[in-house]
Amino acid sequence: MMTSLRVLSSPMDLIRNDFTLRLDYVFSGDATHTEIALAKMGKLEGWWGRTVNMDRFLLRGNGQITLRDSATNQVLYCNSFSTLFSEWQSTPEATHTRKAFENVYLVPMPKNTAYVTVQIFDKTDCIVASFTHVVHPDDILIRPVQSPYTLVKCRYVHKGGDSREAIDIAIVGEGYTKEEMEIFYRDAKETADQILSYEPFKSCASRLNFIAVPVESKESGVSIPLKNEWKQTAFSSSFSTFYSDRYLTTLHLFDLHDALASVPYEHIIILANTDNYGGGGILNSYVLTAAHNRWAMPVVVHEFGHSFGGLADEYFYDDGTDQYDLNVEPWEPNITTLVGFQSKWQDLLEMKEIVTKADQKLPAYKALVESDYKVGIYEGGGYLSEGIYRPFPTCRMRDNTYPVFCPVCQRAISRMIDYHTVTIAE
Ligand SMILES: [Zn+2]
Repeated sequence: MMTSLRVLSSPMDLIRNDFTLRLDYVFSGDATHTEIALAKMGKLEGWWGRTVNMDRFLLRGNGQITLRDSATNQVLYCNSFSTLFSEWQSTPEATHTRKAFENVYLVPMPKNTAYVTVQIFDKTDCIVASFTHVVHPDDILIRPVQSPYTLVKCRYVHKGGDSREAIDIAIVGEGYTKEEMEIFYRDAKETADQILSYEPFKSCASRLNFIAVPVESKESGVSIPLKNEWKQTAFSSSFSTFYSDRYLTTLHLFDLHDALASVPYEHIIILANTDNYGGGGILNSYVLTAAHNRWAMPVVVHEFGHSFGGLADEYFYDDGTDQYDLNVEPWEPNITTLVGFQSKWQDLLEMKEIVTKADQKLPAYKALVESDYKVGIYEGGGYLSEGIYRPFPTCRMRDNTYPVFCPVCQRAISRMIDYHTVTIAE
C-alpha cells in the first residue's frame, strides 16, 4: 500500500514579507440581508502584521477573513473583525432601508495565486454572508496605494521595538488643522502614555509601537449633528452614529487607510479634536475618541479594549438592547451567558456562587471595598442587566472611574499581545 506524505510549508514560505495586500470591501444590505463585494485591491510596501500564529484565530469576532494558497488550500493568514455594518443591522433604520459600509483588511501579499474568503456571522453564530475571490499577486490592477498627505512628520510617541516584531499602532488626527498639529502630537503622546500605564500594556511596552500620523483637516473640530455643526475633516467623522448621541465614528474607511499608506500600522486610533464626549471602538477596525473632555483618556483605553482586545462592554441597563442571544455563548472573553462558561474564566474563579442582580443591591455587597473584590460571576454586562454575566464587580470595560482592567480582561489582552508576537503552542 502506498502512503503519501505531504509536508505543508510554513505560511511564511508562501507570502512575501515585503508587501501588504490591501483589500477594500463594501458590506451592504438591511436587517435580514447581507452582501459582501470587493471594491478594489491595493498594495503597500512592507508587512507589519503578525508573522506568528498566521493560520490561527484567537477570537471568533463578528466576521473573519482568510487567505489561502490556491494550489494547496493552506491557510496563509487569517484574522477576525467586527464591523459597524453588523451593529447597524440591529437598528430600526435597517428594517426599512438598505445601506452600504466600507471595510478594509490588510493581509500579507501571497507569492502565488491565492483565495480570500470573507465571512460575516450573526449573533447566533450562523454565517450570514460568505464571499470568496481570487488574488493573482501579479495582477496589474492591484494599485500601489499612495497617501494623499505628506506624512514626513510622523513621530513615534513610543517605540518599543522593530516594526516587524512589535505591534504597530497608528494614532491619527481628525479635525486638527495645520496650525493645531502640536496639539495633536501632545494628544497622541498622552494617549500612548495612558494606554501604557495600564496592565498588561505596561509590562509589554517593548512589544508595542505608537506612531503619531499628522493628518491635517480643513476645519477644526468634528461634526456634531445634534448641534447642526458640520465640519470638513479628513475622515468626515461625526457624533450621533445610528442616532446615538455619544457614538462617534467615521464611515470613510477607504480614506482612513489611504492616509496611512506609507506608515507601518496594524491597529488604528483616531483622535478627534473636540471637547464633546464620545467615542467608539470596533475589533480590528479602529478606535475613534474625542480627545478633549475630562474622560477622554479613560475612554480611549476602554475603546482600545474593544478594538485591540476584542473585549465586550461590561456595563448594562435595565432596558438594555438585545445585541446578544442569551442561548449562545458570546465570543468576547469578558462576558458570558453561562452557555459555554468553561471556555471563559472558570479557571480564574475565586468565588463560585453566582452574584445575581438582586444580590448586588444588598447592603453587605455595597459595603465591599475594592480589595475584597473577587473574580466571580456577576449578573449584568453586554448592555443587559439580566442573563449576561461579567467577571468582576467593575472594570475599565464598565466604568470610566475604575483605574484598571479586571483580571479577566487583563488576561485576554495579554493573550492578544502574545497572539501578535509569540508563537502559541498547538
Ligand atoms: Zn473586565
